[in-house]
Amino acid sequence: MKWLRYDAGSGPRHGRLADTATIETMDGSPFGPLRPTGERVALASVRLLAPVEPRRVFGIGLNYVDHIREVGAKTPSIPLVFMKPDSAVVGHEAPVVYPRVGANVHYEAELAVVIGRKARRITADRAREVVFGYTCANDVSERVIQGQEMAMGSLVVGKGFDTFCPLGPWIETGVDPSDLRIRARVNGATRQDSRTSDLLFGVEALVCYLSQAITLEPGDVILTGTPAGVGPVVPGDTMEIDIEGIGVLRNPVVAETAPPR
Ligand code: MG
Repeated sequence: MKWLRYDAGSGPRHGRLADTATIETMDGSPFGPLRPTGERVALASVRLLAPVEPRRVFGIGLNYVDHIREVGAKTPSIPLVFMKPDSAVVGHEAPVVYPRVGANVHYEAELAVVIGRKARRITADRAREVVFGYTCANDVSERVIQGQEMAMGSLVVGKGFDTFCPLGPWIETGVDPSDLRIRARVNGATRQDSRTSDLLFGVEALVCYLSQAITLEPGDVILTGTPAGVGPVVPGDTMEIDIEGIGVLRNPVVAETAPPR
């Protein structure tokens, strides 16, 4: 099942895909009481929103073996966790704003886990029970600030600019996340091409690790990390994150136009 949020001109609505071209509209949200309205709208006629409005977005760094090799980092002994602010979240086709202060903005294709149930101290073998589904994420990162921050042991601003967390196009509930092809394309050219089976800490291990400390809530999102092949984008580029069994998340990069304050 593919769950989505959309705006057909009268504000955000929840729905699910009835077929590849049709949305079945729902009252409520998939994380709470939910009722089909009987209304159907054409997918092509609406603007898709981020499929979830997470209270927390957890990011995981250095979690693909080939990416760890690519950046010459040490293999983490525990998941390297950071957080992205909810103000970074945007949906499919929404512009990613290249900040005025940005000098080296990169795409990062990632499998995103959407939590479906309140969860604390979940063992790895029960982790899938608290997952609602999976979506595509782009962990957009400004490398200059990221590098400065990481040299001081921090990681917030370089990962946290407004629009730096595209999610979508929808949440797929019927997919096994353990071995999915994951790709990033820029202007149609493939830049990342890997499989989630190459994850150092998989979905179950991440849910288990985080829930030892933090009560996970419905709608929380975990970005599971990016494979090798990260690289820069510039305004005018189009980024696509394509995950087997889920879909394609597409976002244009635009220059920041607002005057500095
Ligand atoms: Mg990342």
